[in-house]
Formats: sequence, C-alpha cells, structure tokens
Amino acid sequence: MTVVAIDGPAGAGKSTIAKLLADKLSYRYVDTGAIYRAVALVALLAGVDLDDAAAVGTIAAGCDIRTSAGTVTLDGDDVTTRIRAADVTRAVSRVAAHPSVREALIGIQRGEAARGDVVMEGRDIGSVVVPDAEVKVFLTASVEERARRRWEQDGRHGEIADIEAAIVERDARDSQRSSAPLVIPEGAVEVDTTGRTISEVVDEIAVLVEPR
Ligand code: C5P
Repeated sequence: MTVVAIDGPAGAGKSTIAKLLADKLSYRYVDTGAIYRAVALVALLAGVDLDDAAAVGTIAAGCDIRTSAGTVTLDGDDVTTRIRAADVTRAVSRVAAHPSVREALIGIQRGEAARGDVVMEGRDIGSVVVPDAEVKVFLTASVEERARRRWEQDGRHGEIADIEAAIVERDARDSQRSSAPLVIPEGAVEVDTTGRTISEVVDEIAVLVEPR
C-alpha cells in the first residue's frame, strides 16, 4: 500500500504529472487543492469574510466534498470546472491559511491515503498530511515557466505578467502561513521541471516508486 506525495508551488505541473503517474502505476489520484478550492467556492457563494477563520472553518467542517477520478463534488453537485474559475483561484490561499479549515479537511485527505496505492498532490502532503509517505517529491519550475504554462492551459487569455504576479502572490501566502506552510518535506526528492518534458518527469518519479 503505497502513497506518493507530490508537493510544490502553483503551476509546477503537479496535477498533470500526478494524474499521468497514477495512470502509469494504476494508482488512484487525489488532488487536495481541489478540496481547498471547494471550500473557497462555498465561502464566496455564502459571502463570508474570507479572513474570518471561525466562519470559514465552520463552512469547511460542514461541506461534503468528494474527489474521485478527477471529479470533485460538493454536497452532491459536480463543481470540477467551477472551482478552477478566477474568483476561486484568487480566494483559495486566504481560505487555506486558516488552521480551522486545515483541521476540518485533514481527515478526508488521511482517509484517502489510508486506502493506499494513491498519488496525492498538494502543498503539505509530505510534510503534514502523510509525513510517512513511501515516496515524497517536491516539484518546482521557474516562475516564468510556471506562468507561461498556466497561460497556455487557460487558452492564452490575458497577460503572462499578470498570471506570474498572481502565482507569486499565491506562493507567498502558501509559504508564509503559520499553519502547514509550503516547505520541502523532509526526505523529499526535489524535481525541477523547467525545460523538461512531462513524460521525462513522470518516468523519473515512477522509478522512485517501482523498486518497492
Ligand atoms: O493545487 P491548487 O492550485 O489547486 O491549490 C489551490 C490552493 O489550495 C493552494 O494555493 C493552497 O492555498 C491550497 N492548498 C493547500 N494545501 C494543499 C493543497 C492546496 O493549502 N495540500
């Protein structure tokens, strides 16, 4: 029963790499960012102050969020596309900074890990959620490349410079928060994806898993 934990900053390629790796290994894939995004969506729709830890924590504790095969449901509704919208992307790191929110969501994530044979990606999987994961990877890329990839993914809308600024802001919030900040987990293998192909990176990580 293996857990592969992939952490790293925004736009490093975690989702793409984690999905392909899970397919290659016939493991499940869990996108933990989607869980935080679902809470941010509820908070936005409810109109609560995103900096109100108690209000956002209550929302996190009360929602039924499920992730399965790349689909995310919130109280039974499919929100897979909606949680990728710009308003949610702007709000999510403020919501994720509250310890009350993180405590409410850690159980779902540990439940997924306990089922085993899973690739889980996020910001604190190898450091907090599953510190004893068999394989830990910290995926990075230069900020310029991360911004350019996002721009391509989003249909080349807007200015790359604006996307880069938003990425830098989100990384700063995620790295500077007091609760489960984005760090390189102890024992993680750092993989810089700048200038590399997706399949090269997937193969490099798969080798870390296969000898087990
Ligand atoms: O990976 P994605 O960009 O969807 O993550 C959205 C946000 O969710 C991150 O910027 C971070 O604030 C939060 N997150 C987190 N811990 C995780 C996964 C995501 O705080 N394990």
